[in-house]
Amino acid sequence: MIINKKNNTIIAGPCSAESFTQVDKIASKIHKNIDFFRAGVWKPRTNINSFQGVGEVGLSWLKKIKDKYNIKVACEVANSNHVELCKKFKIDMVWLGARTTVNPFCVQEVAESLQDSKIHVYIKNPIIADMDLWYNAIKRMQSYNIKNIGAIHRGFYAERKINYRNKPKWRAVKEFRKKIKGINLICDCSHIAGDSSIVKELVFKSQKLKYDGVMIETHDNPEKALSDSKQQINPTEFNSFFING
Ligand code: PEP
Ligand code: MN
Repeated sequence: MIINKKNNTIIAGPCSAESFTQVDKIASKIHKNIDFFRAGVWKPRTNINSFQGVGEVGLSWLKKIKDKYNIKVACEVANSNHVELCKKFKIDMVWLGARTTVNPFCVQEVAESLQDSKIHVYIKNPIIADMDLWYNAIKRMQSYNIKNIGAIHRGFYAERKINYRNKPKWRAVKEFRKKIKGINLICDCSHIAGDSSIVKELVFKSQKLKYDGVMIETHDNPEKALSDSKQQINPTEFNSFFING
C-alpha cells in the first residue's frame, strides 16, 4: 500500500469528461478508493485545435455519477458562469486551474459566485512560480466566507527541459504551511509528472512529504484520451496504490 486512505484526500478521474460511458466506466472501477471524482468539462487548452471540453452536458454526467455511486464530484471552473452551472448540477467541488490562479480578476469572479457556499474549492498553484499569487488567491476565497478551501500543488512551468512536465517545488510544502494554516494541501502527481510511468514515484514522494492528499488523472483507455493522454494511468494501476502488500 502506498496511500493510506485515512489521512489522505483522494481526487481522481479523467482529465476530461468525454462521454457518459467513459466517466461511468472509470468511476465504476475507482469509486471505492476516492473522495472526489474529477473530470474537466471546460478545458483551458493552449492550442485552439485541441479538445476544448464537452461543456455543460458533462456536468449532467457528473451528477449521474454522483447519484449512482454516492460519491462527490469535481470539475474545473474559471468564471462565474461555470460556478453557476456547477451549482445547478450539484457539483460538490470545484478547482481553479493553474491558468486561472494567475489572474486576480478571474479569482475574484469565482470567489463572488461561491460566496458563503459549502462547495469545496481547491486552488491550484499558478503556472509561474510566484507563491504570492497562490497565497493571495486562497486569501481572496477565504475573504468570501467559503468554508471548504484547499490547495493543489501541480508544479510550475519549466523553461528548461526537466524530467517532469511541470517543475515541482518540494520546499513549497513547508513554506505553504507557514503562510496558510489549516487547509488541505494536495499533490497533483499527474500534472507534475506529465508521463504515466512516473506518476507512482510522485505518489510515493507526496506521502513522504506528508501532503494531505493526491490528485491523480485516471482513464480507462489513456492512449485514446482526448486530453493529457500521456500522463493518465488506468484504473488497475490507480487501485494498486491502495492494496495492502
Ligand atoms: C487539469 O487538472 O486537467 C488541468 C487543466 O490542470 P492544470 O490547471 O494544473 O494545468
Ligand atoms: Mn489534465
